[in-house]
Amino acid sequence: MFKKILVANRGEIAVRIIRTCREMGIKTVAVYSEADREALHVKMADEAVCIGAPPPGRSYLNIPNIISAAEMKGAEAIHPGYGFLAENPYFAEICERQKITFIGPPASAIEDMGAKARARELMIKAGVPVVPGSPGLLTREREIAEIAEAIGYPVIIKASAGGGGRGMRIALNSEELERSVRTARAEAEAAFGDGGIYLEKYLLEPRHVEIQILADKFGNAVYLGERDCSIQRRHQKLIEETPCPVLTQQLREEMGATAVRAAQAVNYVGAGTVEFLLDRLGNYYFIEMNTRIQVEHPVTEMVTGIDLVAEMIKIAAGEPLGFKQEDIKPNGVALECRINAEDTNFNFRPCPGVIKNYLPPGGFGVRVDSGIYPGYSIPPYYDSLIAKLITWGKNRHEVIERMKRALREFRIEGVETTIPFLLSIMENPYFVTGSVDTHFVQRCLEEE
Ligand code: ADP
Repeated sequence: MFKKILVANRGEIAVRIIRTCREMGIKTVAVYSEADREALHVKMADEAVCIGAPPPGRSYLNIPNIISAAEMKGAEAIHPGYGFLAENPYFAEICERQKITFIGPPASAIEDMGAKARARELMIKAGVPVVPGSPGLLTREREIAEIAEAIGYPVIIKASAGGGGRGMRIALNSEELERSVRTARAEAEAAFGDGGIYLEKYLLEPRHVEIQILADKFGNAVYLGERDCSIQRRHQKLIEETPCPVLTQQLREEMGATAVRAAQAVNYVGAGTVEFLLDRLGNYYFIEMNTRIQVEHPVTEMVTGIDLVAEMIKIAAGEPLGFKQEDIKPNGVALECRINAEDTNFNFRPCPGVIKNYLPPGGFGVRVDSGIYPGYSIPPYYDSLIAKLITWGKNRHEVIERMKRALREFRIEGVETTIPFLLSIMENPYFVTGSVDTHFVQRCLEEE
């Protein structure tokens, strides 16, 4: 096992990783930007190294500085968390070249799944159902119109390099197509430096259902159930839960097996998530694979009792999986609410600032993963996620009541947060009955 790990991230996920390392008896090295000197992950790690100026490009994305920090402190492995360098195959490769273990999949698997158009092609070959659309990247304009016509409108044009809900454009008819293609390309070029696009049928009322998988270096792979992430705003998740309220055991097993097959098709190692859209008829379609730990991983931990970060570390250290598919027996229901420092009255605009008062909820079945504390100043340079509130319950009714109780208990003063909005969702009758799809939040906001 590793003696020292460098955590190449910030905020709640850096704290999350440090906690597991401590339980495993592994020393940690935090890295931080000049804006994060007072950040919680810096205070919690055994050692910390400043890696540059506040803009991510100069610190959390600065590969030479991060590698030097690892070498200087003698860290044998790097956990990238999510975002920043987590899905950068080049970074994974450099780590290996410097004899530092990258706690994540091999660079080749990141690459295969990272270009979404290529992932689609690979999945088609592996017999994984994908949303009807173009086989791979789109090049000729004529061909785009032909494919769109053939699969039928509406269609969604996606950036192959896209992520985080960006680089997607919907076209309702042939008149809109040309413009949507043009803007999608331009956006992709600007945001990702790669104008590659592909096309999918735009499913009307899908649920977003994803499968968590774990694979070791010896070819063993398992799925750890699903997460329903249909509560999204602008294609970004706000609330996640497991199990998905509408999934039958048979469909769960089928999707689980499909997710494992998807992972094996790219020789996956580590923790990963295969994302699907599920329609009302129970058809499911691959949309992408996230080759990292995800924000919403705690709900899976709450029902399976498996620490996913610990599993990632053990897999990276060359240990075989300690359990088989039949050993994984999820228990109860878990919910996660993402608490962002955002003002929901002003179109969810980010609200950096000083946390004047902070009192997280507690009690049975409540978990808080956060990177803030009283007096902490949220810098304006990064993501607005400040805490994740996770609750567990025997059933869906219990977990929702517990979440409401915990959201009401949560005191964060000094900045606006999404807590009131999350509470309103917990009280929404459609949410309570589990009849939601990916447009649920949009509809709620339109009704207001
Ligand atoms: P990203 O990598 O940016 O997160 P995804 O491909 O994972 O993009 O899609 C994010 C969300 O966008 C999905 O959860 C879903 O709500 C919506 N979406 C993506 N593809 C489609 C589609 N073909 N039809 C309908 N909605 C879609």
